[in-house]
Amino acid sequence: MENAINLKKSVWVMFYAGFIQSIKIFKYYLLPVLTVYSLYLLFKGEIASIDIYMFTIMFTLTQIGICLGYHRMESHKPFDPHPVVRFILLALGAISLSGPPSYWVAIHLRHHAHADKDGDPHSPIHGFWHAHYAWINKLNLANLRDPYMKRFQGDTMLEFFDKTNLLWGLLGGVVPGVIDGWHGFLWGFAVRVFCTTHTTWLVNSYGHCFGKRDYLTKDQSRNNFWLAIISMGEGWHNNHHAFPKSAYHGFKWYQIDVCGYLVSMLEKLGLVKNVYRVSKESKKNRKITEEASSIEEIAEVKAKETAEITT
Ligand SMILES: [Zn+2]
Ligand SMILES: [Zn+2]
Repeated sequence: MENAINLKKSVWVMFYAGFIQSIKIFKYYLLPVLTVYSLYLLFKGEIASIDIYMFTIMFTLTQIGICLGYHRMESHKPFDPHPVVRFILLALGAISLSGPPSYWVAIHLRHHAHADKDGDPHSPIHGFWHAHYAWINKLNLANLRDPYMKRFQGDTMLEFFDKTNLLWGLLGGVVPGVIDGWHGFLWGFAVRVFCTTHTTWLVNSYGHCFGKRDYLTKDQSRNNFWLAIISMGEGWHNNHHAFPKSAYHGFKWYQIDVCGYLVSMLEKLGLVKNVYRVSKESKKNRKITEEASSIEEIAEVKAKETAEITT
């Protein structure tokens, strides 16, 4: 019996390894070529406005699927979604061609558990380009299954999206192709997947190298305005590493967080419940000040503050 289960697991690992290998070749080599060709057609004026609308709408929907669905909802569980909301967000995530959601989540949880240390699958401590895309070459899928994927056992919706992942990805190409043929396919699929993939990869690479650190974390995560704009709020990456369970990544009024606004809207409509919010006190305690920028310095400043209050 145990042998049968192990065999089944190995078959799945081989299947996903093959799947990820194919997607990798597609994303590394074919998508950039198709994107450059699409831009050439755009500058020649051969692209209809419907293709640009399709790109914009599908880019936005895919980003929401990845950032709100795969990342916030499935990886960090900061709210309880209505099953219909969960289904829609997982379907939108699946059209990104980012792989089966359980693997996406497992890789991401490993990143949080070892952020910018040995064991982090995509840290810039091994180089910017390693963090951006080359890490995929070194990924050991078998290592991910047991420690991080137990939470999905018996989760029928997740299993459904794991098994049908490629079909959703293909559907994301067929629909724009049916709407506007080859040009629809180029802008609604190829350019869109190229842009959403690199946006996610930029959070892993740029978001751990450049920008401002507002909160104390044991990693090098940073906050970036422009990255938050294109990624629907994920660019507030230092906020996120400081408080991973927070449903909101933008903490200040000017920290634009489209996925956070969507959570508020869904909560008002009663479609998500038990939304997790970080208290002002917790944020204050983790704030990096001018005097303190390390755990030791913060402890020192706090000791001084306490001494001033009590004397
Ligand atoms: Zn990170
Ligand atoms: Zn995260």
